[in-house]
Amino acid sequence: MTQKVALITGSTSGIGLSIAMRLAQSGHNIILNGFGDPQKIQWTANSIAEMYKIEVVHSNADMTKPDEIEKMIHMAQNSFGSLDIVVCNAGVQHVAPIDEFPPEKWDMILAINLTSAFHVIHHALPLMKEKKWGRIINIASAHALVASPFKSAYVAAKHGLAGLTKTVALEVAEHGITCNAICPGYVQTPLVDNQIQDTAKARGISPETVIRDVILGSQPTKEFVKVEDIAELAAYLSSDHAAAITGTMLSIDGGWTAH
Ligand code: NAD
Repeated sequence: MTQKVALITGSTSGIGLSIAMRLAQSGHNIILNGFGDPQKIQWTANSIAEMYKIEVVHSNADMTKPDEIEKMIHMAQNSFGSLDIVVCNAGVQHVAPIDEFPPEKWDMILAINLTSAFHVIHHALPLMKEKKWGRIINIASAHALVASPFKSAYVAAKHGLAGLTKTVALEVAEHGITCNAICPGYVQTPLVDNQIQDTAKARGISPETVIRDVILGSQPTKEFVKVEDIAELAAYLSSDHAAAITGTMLSIDGGWTAH
């Protein structure tokens, strides 16, 4: 496959970082995005670039800010001359009963987990249409397909992302561009580690019980999904072999949504 340019939002940690590394392994130039210690991010970017002999740049664009998202896309174009693969991955979580759910958390989750994908796609599509080739991968969740209590904003945003994925796929089907969603089950990343305490509080149970009964209880395999396996699926969807796969919700959830 020829060298492409890939932007992965929320790629300074967890699933996004793993996808960035896997796409770098395929030989693509990478735009990392996300928050964290600037020195650590620079070290990560340099290490990936050196390991896979490709170029890596970082944008600290805030996915709640449409003007910063637009600048990030321009930065990608200015750095590499094109943008071929976008992975809308940035996401946050907050766990609370809906009558106690802080409205500002609702707004933030909708902005990062759903609306940022609209802005990324909105600005990236003209560049992909120009080249008659593009891959859009939205990192949704099992929660794009089924609900769980106390995650109203997250479930609403991820269901919305599923709708956005299908709509974009239909609009660009004749332009050589695909748009798909990956729907992971539970993956052990900082996002999940942080929600264990909140879920314990919301359900009135211990953190150990949350892991056993709520998290791994949802997944028939009784195992977390591995970040590397999600990255491998993203690499496949980014390849020419996946040209006919579009508008799909691809579950990688240890059997969760087979229930
Ligand atoms: P993570 O917390 O490890 O990483 C989140 C990333 O998003 C980080 O790089 C962070 O800096 C970035 N980010 C957060 N707010 C941002 C903002 N305003 N602007 C830009 N970047 C921002 O989380 P993760 O578990 O790797 O989650 C990645 C995606 O996968 C999310 O969309 C999440 O909903 C989805 N997902 C995760 C799981 C899971 O179990 N971990 C399961 C299904 C889906």
